[in-house]
Amino acid sequence: MQKDVNGKSLSGIKNKKLFLFDMDGTIYIDGKLFDGVKDLFEKIAATGGKYVFITNNSSKSLEERVAYLNGTGIAATSGDFMTSTMAAAEILRDKFGKGKIYVQATKSCVKELIGYGLNLTEEYDESVSAILVGYDTELTYEKMKRTCKMLTNTNVPYYATNPDWVCPVDFGYAPDCGSMCFTYEKATGKTPTFIGKPTRFMIDVCVKKYGFTKEQTLVIGDRLYTDIASGVNAGVDTLFVLSGEGTLRDIETLGVKPTFVLNCVSELNDVL
Ligand SMILES: [Mg+2]
Repeated sequence: MQKDVNGKSLSGIKNKKLFLFDMDGTIYIDGKLFDGVKDLFEKIAATGGKYVFITNNSSKSLEERVAYLNGTGIAATSGDFMTSTMAAAEILRDKFGKGKIYVQATKSCVKELIGYGLNLTEEYDESVSAILVGYDTELTYEKMKRTCKMLTNTNVPYYATNPDWVCPVDFGYAPDCGSMCFTYEKATGKTPTFIGKPTRFMIDVCVKKYGFTKEQTLVIGDRLYTDIASGVNAGVDTLFVLSGEGTLRDIETLGVKPTFVLNCVSELNDVL
């Protein structure tokens, strides 16, 4: 049986059925799919497994990513993705049912959440069951003030889609959801429960939604502090790949311990 870069046997991967993939640096880099990745997805599907792409980014680039994967020959639909917005919707629906939820997010995000049957309001309303803040690229000072008023005058559970500080843009970086929530923390003292990586929630939602066990699940990514940490926090096995941002040294410096380490995800072709 093949071994990982640390000499650890990969036999534990043989029984995995639910593969939760990061994308950038894990299956492609600079828009180029790694060799063997297409074969890997075909193998997973042919052996009764399921692959899901998990991403904190819940913006409209989801359609672009689906189109890109289809262009490379990978059969993927938006249903093969789990975004932090999708996970937030599942969690809020489970926890609060038809209870009203105050949401501050983009129009497209609100529409997506309504599609899950959530009872939402974007207006000031003290009768809500929960508050959700998304990565809001349509943010105005009016919206910020309203959210602060909600956080100040209610004491209901407060969620946010993803903890990322910044979002890459053409000139560098712009504030993402984490930075927006930090602004609210400074104003109100309240901090949200973040749904996106590195917390466990997206992994938990995938395991439940696709009907596999945690033992059958493998989280795969190139960042220890987000991808691998989310798997560790959810109590599932993780595969750290060295094809993107992370290095072996990170394991020591960051103190996040992956179950397996490979140079590239396509090496799984020899294991499955
Ligand atoms: Mg990545």
